[in-house]
Amino acid sequence: MNPTAFSQDEIEALGARAEVMVNALGAISAEPDRLVRLFLSPEHRRAADLVARWMREAGLTVSEDALGTVRGRLGQGRCLLIGSHLDTVIDAGKYDGPFGVIAGILAAGHFARAGMTLPFGIDVLAFGDEEGSRFPATLSSSSACAGVFRPENLALADRNGVSLGDAIAAYGKSATDIPAAAYRREDVAGYVEVHIEQGPVLETRNQPLGVVTSIVGQTYLNVELLGEAGHAGTVPMLLRRDALAGAAEAMLLGETLARETKGEVVVTVGRIAVAPGATNVIPANVVVIFDIRSGSEAARARLVDTLKAGVRAIADKRHLALTITSTREVATTPCHRHVQDMLGDAVRALGVEPVRLNSGAGHDGQAMAKLCPIGMLFVRCRGGVSHNPMEYASPRDLGLAVAALIGFLARFDPGRLATTTGP
Ligand SMILES: [Zn+2]
Repeated sequence: MNPTAFSQDEIEALGARAEVMVNALGAISAEPDRLVRLFLSPEHRRAADLVARWMREAGLTVSEDALGTVRGRLGQGRCLLIGSHLDTVIDAGKYDGPFGVIAGILAAGHFARAGMTLPFGIDVLAFGDEEGSRFPATLSSSSACAGVFRPENLALADRNGVSLGDAIAAYGKSATDIPAAAYRREDVAGYVEVHIEQGPVLETRNQPLGVVTSIVGQTYLNVELLGEAGHAGTVPMLLRRDALAGAAEAMLLGETLARETKGEVVVTVGRIAVAPGATNVIPANVVVIFDIRSGSEAARARLVDTLKAGVRAIADKRHLALTITSTREVATTPCHRHVQDMLGDAVRALGVEPVRLNSGAGHDGQAMAKLCPIGMLFVRCRGGVSHNPMEYASPRDLGLAVAALIGFLARFDPGRLATTTGP
């Protein structure tokens, strides 16, 4: 049997099955009229139980760790981890997270049913905390698996004042077992995740599947400009030190620099603070936060340097005092070359062109990359919409993604990870 040869009917059937499962998880919500499934909530419990049942039905051996991550094991030896998350944002769509878990179960189940032994074990992981919707931290579940969970996070409280530590106890787990959730490096071959794209690139390219090259790194630059307040009617234009006009020039510079990179770097200002903030007063003090992201560390660093120098020149010219601080630095997470290539080959074998693209959104893979090589497969979603009940991926695209994951498993060679490096 060739496990990667799929007829159109088989792909349709995989997609139909995936959609039924997506809908079943999508029905598990804290609220009747919108999807809300928070970490360590009763809904998390119900979703985890359903996932565990599917895993058993697929022939996997199920366990659960201290943070409620459900693990379904197939086979033996060093494990390839396949995961995604069950938690959602408030008023979420059904696909973001759950589909990656479902794809893992369907792919592992395919090999179990066929009685085919792979030269590595598989752990399908259903994480519970990727979105950070309940506690002011994200990736707790995957961080625990990667052995980088920060114990001080146990004190973080949700909106109702319940700490993460208490929520773990209420879920029937013990925080003292968190260290035991960590995989040993030598037991793990890699981590792969299937996820909806959450952006418009695949739809624009008219392709159903994409191979992720990296999860973008991010810099927040906090730029504060200090001028002088004054009467909007009496101070002549040439004598003004208008901090907001300077900030506007800085924002346009950020946009221009990003456009010049032709897609390599994106720059956004989503929030500014203006003081005193009165219609008839010249703005004296403005804080602008630049969100700068790129799949390339070098390109991001270059843009940050150029933007800083440009903002300094703008401040000098306008006689504004200036402070620039970086309030967030997240390194780019590269996807491993062998994982990318094997995902690409598996996609191509289905007659689909694998688009290579960055992930502009964060994922559990960022935590898992601290443990092992990672890779991601993206699925086209309608309008690039996510974190929204309108989120949608077609059953056919879901079927292609599951088939591609099966093809990837048939091609994946743990030995190639040690001898080849990331991009
Ligand atoms: Zn997600």
